[in-house]
Amino acid sequence: MALIRRRDETDADEFEEAVWGRHIFNARRDTSRVPFAVCEAEEAADVVACVEFAKAHNCRVSVRSGGHSWAAWSVRQGAVLVDLIYLDQKEGGEFSYDPATQVVSTPPSASGRELNDYLAEQVGEDGKPRWFPGGHCPDVALGGFLLQGGMGWNCKNWGWACEAIIGIDVVTADAKQLHCSPTTNPDLFWAARGAGPGFPAIVTRFHLRTRPLETLYQSLYFFPLSDFQAVLRWVSAAAPSADPHTEIVVVTSHFAIDDFASPMVLANFLTFQPTEDAAELALSALTDAMPDTLTPTLAIDCEETNLETQYAMQTQANPEDHRYCTDNVYVSNDVTDLPALLEPAFTSLPSKQSAALWFAMNPTSRRQLPDMALSMQSDHYVSLYAVWEDEADDTGCVSWVRNAMKTLERKSVGSYLGDADFQARRTKFWSDEAGKRLKEVRRKWDPEGRICGYLDEGDKSGVEGLKNEFEWQGAP
Ligand SMILES: Cc1cc2nc3c(=O)[nH]c(=O)nc-3n(C[C@H](O)[C@H](O)[C@H](O)COP(=O)(O)OP(=O)(O)OC[C@H]3O[C@@H](n4cnc5c(N)ncnc54)[C@H](O)[C@@H]3O)c2cc1C
Repeated sequence: MALIRRRDETDADEFEEAVWGRHIFNARRDTSRVPFAVCEAEEAADVVACVEFAKAHNCRVSVRSGGHSWAAWSVRQGAVLVDLIYLDQKEGGEFSYDPATQVVSTPPSASGRELNDYLAEQVGEDGKPRWFPGGHCPDVALGGFLLQGGMGWNCKNWGWACEAIIGIDVVTADAKQLHCSPTTNPDLFWAARGAGPGFPAIVTRFHLRTRPLETLYQSLYFFPLSDFQAVLRWVSAAAPSADPHTEIVVVTSHFAIDDFASPMVLANFLTFQPTEDAAELALSALTDAMPDTLTPTLAIDCEETNLETQYAMQTQANPEDHRYCTDNVYVSNDVTDLPALLEPAFTSLPSKQSAALWFAMNPTSRRQLPDMALSMQSDHYVSLYAVWEDEADDTGCVSWVRNAMKTLERKSVGSYLGDADFQARRTKFWSDEAGKRLKEVRRKWDPEGRICGYLDEGDKSGVEGLKNEFEWQGAP
């Protein structure tokens, strides 16, 4: 049995290390939140023991899979922190794959890269390795990522990562082990695909459909920031009808490229194709639509790449031991001049490492979604990432995000849980209907609010959950 270490019975440094030392990605932390106890669970029975322990001590349970939530949602005042990092690590029990169904079973603490390293060995009858399009950053764990929906690789076309969940194993708020699927405990299964950190149980295992990994090709076009509007106008017009295996992103950042002295705007097209000819066809359709008035400062056309290189690029863009502030919106499809709306934020980055991202979501955003909690989307996902090192820069960097959101949220239909901080801003994360249903499912499965849920201002939301409304609703 894994040890449950109480704060009042544990060496202070050891406790601090267990809570914050490992696995918390964001170096900007609110260390005033102090758990009652922490346990590094090794098997589902440890998770059961933690919930029983929390009940006996009348406190809440918080959960950590990979520690990548920007606001460190796993660290909660007075809670028993269940860290799943060592779950099912013994005797090769971490992953299992069934070639007949092409379903992989994984603990929630596995990262996208760990799962894909395992799947790379599972070659299908077509001779292609299997893979799972998890988070873009290799170290994001599947737990937090999938519960909030999961904006994985080529989400624009392949849909939300959580749509590939066929079942989950959970420990409930009253310490029972259950399986959930479309036919067994279907309401918990419904909530597991979009409730995010308000999921009213602890997932100990995901069962996921995999896909064949094709070859990756990429085109990259860098422009001066003054071309921002023209670049976004071109790419956002071309994206909806682009090849269905191509991910499309426009980012502004300084980029770690020696030739660039100032921030640039990048149009980034990544395609998954069986042959180079197919990749040429997919990518040239986008490049051919580039207006003659645009001349890239640097252009890379249809270059073969691979998952490892893509992970390395993501890691470089999201360095460890840095301070982060993020927020996001789904800009309404009704907005008539998207480039003009985004330009002020995208061209005023507060630090060298910061970035602003537009992620094309159409056609996924135009589909009827499966019946699941995730229900908020639009054609335009926009997220701001302030990234810096020195605490003295906190005010400037945080203000960039907060001020930009004041304008953008009025043109949005809502936001994505994954890049949000409920302590900072109230907004909509689900359709009205799904938001209501989620409240009911949470109340049914965790009536006492045993599992911490959403970390809003003052950590008060409890069983009630998030309001699912715009803060400015009713305001002029
Ligand atoms: C560098 C970086 C890159 C990112 N890239 C992407 C991306 O490409 N796409 C995307 O969609 N998101 C992305 N994100 C956001 C990321 O998916 C979320 O922050 C997610 O919550 C991280 O999951 P985690 O398990 O690592 O985090 P944790 O902090 O461990 O988990 C977050 C919360 O989720 C809940 N939770 C986690 N595991 C469980 C479980 N097993 N059972 C019950 N509840 C659980 C808990 O409330 C927990 O506190 C990125 C984040 C970072 C820092």
